[in-house]
Amino acid sequence: MTILEVQDLKTYYSTLKGDVKAVDGVRLQMEKGESLGLVGESGCGKTTLALAIMRLLPWNGRIVGGKILLNDVDIVGLDEAIFDKDYRWKRMAYVFQGAMNALNPVFKVGDQIAEAITIHEDVAKREALDRARELFSLVGIDPGRITSYPHELSGGMKQRAMIAMALACNPDFIIADEPTTALDVIVQAQTLEVINELQKKLGITMMLITHDLSVVAQTCTTCAIMYAGNLVEYADIDTTFSDPVHPYTQALISAFPSIKEDRRELISISGVPPNLLNPPTGCRFNPRCPHRMDICTKEKPEYLEIGDRHFAACHLLTNGG
Ligand code: SF4
Repeated sequence: MTILEVQDLKTYYSTLKGDVKAVDGVRLQMEKGESLGLVGESGCGKTTLALAIMRLLPWNGRIVGGKILLNDVDIVGLDEAIFDKDYRWKRMAYVFQGAMNALNPVFKVGDQIAEAITIHEDVAKREALDRARELFSLVGIDPGRITSYPHELSGGMKQRAMIAMALACNPDFIIADEPTTALDVIVQAQTLEVINELQKKLGITMMLITHDLSVVAQTCTTCAIMYAGNLVEYADIDTTFSDPVHPYTQALISAFPSIKEDRRELISISGVPPNLLNPPTGCRFNPRCPHRMDICTKEKPEYLEIGDRHFAACHLLTNGG
């Protein structure tokens, strides 16, 4: 069953120098229970895509084209009051980047979770606090800690409290934006373990945004690779790591250490991502691509299904290299 379908989404930011085309024609479909890793270098549009889905773009960001269907309802055109009441947090939730600082320091964490519940559901505060205790258990925190203030929790506990808050209204779909970036490696591993456990227990549909392929390898069932505002490849996790077809995906994998091939040389990707005020014509990866052909600088490659739920956008697929 399809939970989320993004159709040709374009999201731009207005600046004094013109529009920054941060997301420029993204197509994506997520099935129930899918755990998708959305991967790419900084500035490639991952967070903008997520904020557009949540309709939380900053003041200068706007959706200029396309649809976002959640359970077949196009949420782009929904009235903000309806979206806020019935969709955001209730059907879709967001674990923010730097979530450890997203808790309000002057309120107890349990009260903050209870407030998220009482705003969206017709329940008394006592019932909401009971639910906050259950959620704390679910994410591996002593339920008694709902009376703690944020500064009384460790970094890992605060991150798990934010995951608990995202789960507060039983959403169909959660976006976690770099949920482990600010954590040390041990707490990062514990947090990923919590996310894995929750997916097994609750069958959550999750989009996990990261620049770290090891996080995707540990947590996700599918992977979407984003470059300069476009999706360039989407596949299940095994195909992504064993048989990537897009040169950018291949470059990312080559830069990623493998415990199976202990002598493999790690190759960094030369060059930098383009300025999205004036992105390159044709394929946006062409200035950095070792396989560039004439057509690559002239025509944008189509995003094609090349296998069972395996998509990629590269002229090599249609011009044979
Ligand atoms: Fe490289 Fe051309 Fe494929 Fe782009 S379309 S990734 S430049 S071969």
